[in-house]
Parts: sequence; C-alpha cells; structure tokens
Amino acid sequence: MNAPRRSQPAQGRRPGTAASEPSAAQVSDAAVGPDAPGTAAKGPLTLRELDAIGVDRLNGVGRQRRKALADVGVESVFDLLTYYPRRYVDRTAQAPISEAAIGSEITVVADVLSVSSRRLRGGRRLVSVDVTDASGVLSAVFFNQAWRERQLTEGRSVALFGKVEDYRGRKQMTNPVVDVLGGGSATDSTGQADRTGKIVAIYPQSETAGIVTWDVANWVAEAQRRCSVRGIADPLPGRLRKRLGLTSRSRALADIHEPPSMAERWAARDRLVFDELMRVQLMLRSQRLAREAHELGIAHEPTGTLIEAFHRRLPYTLTGAQQRAMAQIDADVSMMRPMHRLLQGDVGSGKTLVALHALLIAVQNGHQGALMAPTEVLAEQHYFALRALLDGFEVPDEGRLGGRRPLRLCLLSGSSSATQRREVLVQVATGSADIVVGTHALLEESVKFASLSVVVVDEQHRFGVSQRARLRESGRDDRRIPHLLVMTATPIPRTAAMTVYGDLDVSVLDELPPGRTPIATQWVQGPLAAESMWIEVRREIEAGRQAYVVCPLVAESESLDARSAEQTHAELSAGALAGLRVGLLHGRLPMAEKEATMARFREGDLDVLVATTVIEVGIDVPNATVMVVLSADRFGIAQLHQLRGRVGRGSHASSCYLVSDEDPTAIAVERLSALAATNDGFELAERDLELRGEGTLFDERQSGRSDLKLASLVRDLHWVQAARDAAADLIAADGDLDAHPALADEVDWFAGRRDPDYLQRS
Ligand code: ADP
Ligand code: MG
Repeated sequence: MNAPRRSQPAQGRRPGTAASEPSAAQVSDAAVGPDAPGTAAKGPLTLRELDAIGVDRLNGVGRQRRKALADVGVESVFDLLTYYPRRYVDRTAQAPISEAAIGSEITVVADVLSVSSRRLRGGRRLVSVDVTDASGVLSAVFFNQAWRERQLTEGRSVALFGKVEDYRGRKQMTNPVVDVLGGGSATDSTGQADRTGKIVAIYPQSETAGIVTWDVANWVAEAQRRCSVRGIADPLPGRLRKRLGLTSRSRALADIHEPPSMAERWAARDRLVFDELMRVQLMLRSQRLAREAHELGIAHEPTGTLIEAFHRRLPYTLTGAQQRAMAQIDADVSMMRPMHRLLQGDVGSGKTLVALHALLIAVQNGHQGALMAPTEVLAEQHYFALRALLDGFEVPDEGRLGGRRPLRLCLLSGSSSATQRREVLVQVATGSADIVVGTHALLEESVKFASLSVVVVDEQHRFGVSQRARLRESGRDDRRIPHLLVMTATPIPRTAAMTVYGDLDVSVLDELPPGRTPIATQWVQGPLAAESMWIEVRREIEAGRQAYVVCPLVAESESLDARSAEQTHAELSAGALAGLRVGLLHGRLPMAEKEATMARFREGDLDVLVATTVIEVGIDVPNATVMVVLSADRFGIAQLHQLRGRVGRGSHASSCYLVSDEDPTAIAVERLSALAATNDGFELAERDLELRGEGTLFDERQSGRSDLKLASLVRDLHWVQAARDAAADLIAADGDLDAHPALADEVDWFAGRRDPDYLQRS
C-alpha cells in the first residue's frame, strides 16, 4: 500500500538533505509490561522479536479478529506496525462542514445521520447519505453504488473526500472517496483515543474482514505503548543514519502512524522506505558474495579468429552500447568467477549480436554455448536468426584435415521428432554441436553437454528462477559453473533492475542502431475508426510497404490462438484487405511452412502478415511499416511495445494501430494511452510498474508477503541508490556482515520470512 503522493515534492526527500536528529520521544507506559517471548530486562526489541509476537496478544484481538487480521496479512506485531496508513486526514487544518467553501476539495470527518436509496429513470440507483460533524450537515450522493447503503449505516463515522457542490442550497459531494472510520462516533471520542485536532491515519480496510481504520489505529497504539517499555532497536550504524539524515526506527514507526506534523510523517516514511530497500540490498548482496566465494567457472580468452571473423562480417558498425556490453562480457568471461550479467535493452537495440558474441567466445575456446528461450516459437526464431548470422563459419578441429569444420548450430525443441532429438543430444554430448538453442527442454536430465561454458537466457522473467539455476548446474560434470547472460527485451526500470537483480551485473543497451524511424501510434476504437485505419493500411501497401496484423489472444492456448488467427485471416482476406497478398503465421503451423511464409514476407511476396504473437520477437523486415494489433486492450504494455518494435526498422515512417474492443477497462485505457504517448521502452516500463503495482515484480521470488510495503521503485530511485551504496559499504569483502551483528540478524530473519529456497536460487 503506498502512501498518497501529494504535498511532498514529487521525488520525496533526497538522502542526506535534512539531518534532523529526532529527540527520543517514546510513549512510555510502564504499567504495561513488555510482551516479547522471554521478556524481562532485555535490550530494545528487534524486528525478529516483534515478528514473533502474535497480534492476539493485544487487547481486543480474539479469535475472530485474529482471523480477520490474518486475511489482510497481519499476524504479528511486526506486521501490524508495518500495516501502513493509506492516507492521512489532517484534522489540524480541517474545516468544519459549516465553513467548507463551495467548489473546494476537502475531507470531512463526520457521522452518518441517515441514508436512503432510490432508483432513477433509466434504472440507475442513487444512494444519498446525510452526514454531520456537529457544525453542519452535508449530503453525499452515490450513483450506481447500491452497496453504499449497506456500508454507510446510521451512526457510522466516516471520512469523505470530494468537491463541495451546491445543490439547491445544500452542501453536497458527488461520489466522494469514502473511508469508514469506525462504528462509533467520529466526534464523540468515548472509549476511543481523541483524534480531533490531529493528523489521523486512514488504514487500508477490509470490508469483508470487518476491519475498520479506528480498530487498526487502536491496536497500533496499544502495540506502540507496550513496545515502548523496551523500545525498538535500531540496527543501522549511527554514522550512516546521520549521514543520510534518517530518523530512528522507533521514532519512524511511531510517526508513520501518528505523525505530529506532515513533515514528520515524510521523515518517517523516508526511514522506513530506506529500511525496506536496505534489507533487500543486503540480502541480495551477501547472497551474491557468498555465491562468488564458492563458485568456480571457466576462464576464456575473449578473442580469436572466430570472434574476429564474426565482427569482420557484420554488415554494420556496432552501436556504442553494444561495444560497451561486449567489452563487459569479455572481461567477465575472462575470469574464473562465473559471469552473472543482465543484458537489458529496448526492442530492436541489438541484443542478439551481443548474445552471439558471448556464445562465440565459448566456441572459440573449445567449449559450447546454449541459448534458452521461454517458448518454442522464440527458440525457433533465435535459431533462424543465429543461423543466418553464422552461415559459413568454421571452427578449429584438430581431428580433421585442414584442422577446421563448419560451426554447428542445433535446435532442441519440444516439437523435434524423437530421431532429431536423439541426434541433437548425441551432438551436444560429444561436442560436435557448438551452439544449442532451445526451450526448457534444455533443462532435462537427458541433456548432457560435452563442455558448456556460456549460457544465454532470453526473457528471464518468464522462466522460473530455479530453472535458470538448473541450467547452470546441469551442464557440467566438473561442477564448474558456466557463465550466464540474461537478456531481457522487456525494459525493466533502472530502479527495479537494481533491486530485483541486485545479484546481477547489468549491461544496458541504451542506444538504438542508427536509421530507425519514429513510430506514430494510434489507439483505434469503434467501427468507423477501424474502417479508416484499413484505408490507411491499403494506402501504405499501395506505396510499396508491408503490414503486420496481430490477432487477438484468445486464451493461453496455442490452438485457440491459431484458430482465431485463421478466422481473422479469412475475414480480412475477403473484406478489408481483399485483393492483397495476405499470409498467415501461427505457432501451430509446421516449421517448414512458418519458414516459407516468413521468407515470402521478407522477400516482399506478401503484403500483409496476419499472425499471432509469434511475431513478437525476432522478426525483422525493414520494409514493414504498419503494425495493426487487434484487441490490443488484452495485451500488456510490454507485449504491445514488443509488437510495435517490429516496425520502424527502415527508412520509411511507420505507424502502429492499437485496435481496442468495444469497452476496454480503465486500466487498459491507461495502457493504450501510455503506448500512444511514447516510444520509449524505459518510460513505458516505469508506467507499467505504476499500473501494475510494485509487488508484482517480486512475485516469482517470494512467498506472498511483499518486501516493499512503502517503498516505490518508481518514486524512490534515490533511496534505492542510497541503500545499494550503504549495503556495499557495510558488507565485508567476503560477504559477511560480522561487523554489524544486529543488521546481520535482521537480514537473516528477513530472508527466512520468504520462500525457504530463496537463498538457494540465484
Ligand atoms: P533486440 O533483440 O534487442 O530486440 P535485435 O538483436 O533483434 O534486437 O536487433 C534488431 C535489428 O537491428 C536486427 O535487424 C539487427 O540486425 C539490427 N542491428 C543490430 N545491431 C545493429 C547495428 N549496430 N547497426 C545496425 N543494425 C543493427
Ligand atoms: Mg531479440
């Protein structure tokens, strides 16, 4: 749950700019004993200890409440203290209803006086609610939210945020944002903490679990009170805290829930954000150093005749970014320590050449390279791309006359026949296969390499992390670990890459090869717009260009997608594209047919290629200048960006039409607008992250609890960097945190809360 993004300057405070050391303000209540297991005269409470105290130890949390809290992820006192407010209502500056100006946007904290509901002409339901804060009465009206009648029952205290309107002389809000504060009264504080004239935290609430914000506030306050006896430990070295201007942990945990001022609330957030990021960084970094300490790889000579021939034969000069990435790879693979590198680059930035360079170093040195793709189709495409680039290459072979033989590239895919497969396996095992391309079929036990030394994994995030680990381990008998290059065509925001891939080195291809033309992207909705789109498409084709039409994704099923593509192909050939040469491409076609169709399109013998997303990656026809994506609202940002990347590769201006279904969801509209607004993959990735929420980045690696409750990878770049630097400073060269036992213990606890084999993976 993120804090609201207002008042604070958009980027949050920068580390080290406001070094206000907090006074050690603690809510002391000696009457209530400390509550940790073991208790008594111990030092301040650590997060591990707070996490060992069940919430049922708090007053008023019985079996039912415990279950309700568990439903929102709160089981321990640690969970509760980090169940952060979603919003704050500043009641120090709050105007009573009687003084609320018409036209202003305000928050009103008030009690429900009455609620009624009626059906409007046209069938819409209108719920109206009168609330009062003793100074006056305000009405709130809700359209088509019948459930409000059950939510806003008489006597409930609520916070309403919205614009004050005048409706026949009465103050009114239409569809305001609602937070139910409690069942009791907001203005009468009997049995409740007095919350008038304060900044009040509004917690994420669960209507189904029956948890309202006042309840949470009361439990948090009780937990704070009971913790204050021992205090909450701060594992951060004082010097570091001072340098970054961070408040103490106990102060931050108090102020995030009950901020004396909004400034203190932001200071609290900074500290807690830093803690979250720091824990992740420390864990990733120590994990990485520990791994490096015991992993033995294979040192390569990064030059040689093969590499030189490859570079000589390239029809163009490498971009600066490609050269940098290759140099970084050269340095990595020269070491005995296995490479762990992420190659990140926007669509069309030329990752394939960089990958091939790495694979050829393996071959040059008498070893093998493997390229693993997430799907059959992608594996096939990589195979064809590499085959074209490697045509005519020879490798040294002492056993032969003349000492050379042709370089052998193999494809190992699930759709290979048993005979083909057996043949490839023998070649891989004897070393006569130099480079093997495949899917996770490469991971099977039966695949034995003669000497695998470089592994390239494409689109790593679609792979299970453990699969990646297996490929590295399965290759060799001598337990040496091949060098690993992870390619991602989906740009990951820099911040996220730093956090998620904290254990990988990163090379970024931030430069497109010259000669790319910008792509004008349009969102097309409705039959009229579609009609004029097809006219535009025909016009382009008449001018000698070619077009792709990507068909709706039906389901996670290749055969259904294939059928939909066939249908679309038939419809378009008879309708909007009648008279043109329209080809069809989908995953279910025999490989030879796919190859033939692609070849015809490449040669210009087809005007239009109707396809499923098989064309997402790897297809490269500079004369194709139009991309039409049907049912574009069903695709994600990254995928649409990939698809769009198939055009804009030649000297002619290109266009991309994102055709949406009748009624796209709000989030789909956001996605389509984002794509129409920019071609920059990194910007889109940031937007994607915003729309999907931060937590999803970690899905694959964690067991459900989010590492980042408060920190935002989009907004908190400077804190990610500060945490990364600080982690590097604190961890000794051999990877341990011995000099900082409290931090070491916290990282250990944190890692233990996650998926148990998390640390075994990489
Ligand atoms: P990516 O996999 O990063 O999306 P590719 O490796 O498929 O990109 O490269 C995209 C296209 O750009 C290919 O046609 C490739 O031949 C071409 N290309 C790659 N590097 C260069 C370069 N330095 N100059 C010109 N064209 C390049
Ligand atoms: Mg590629």
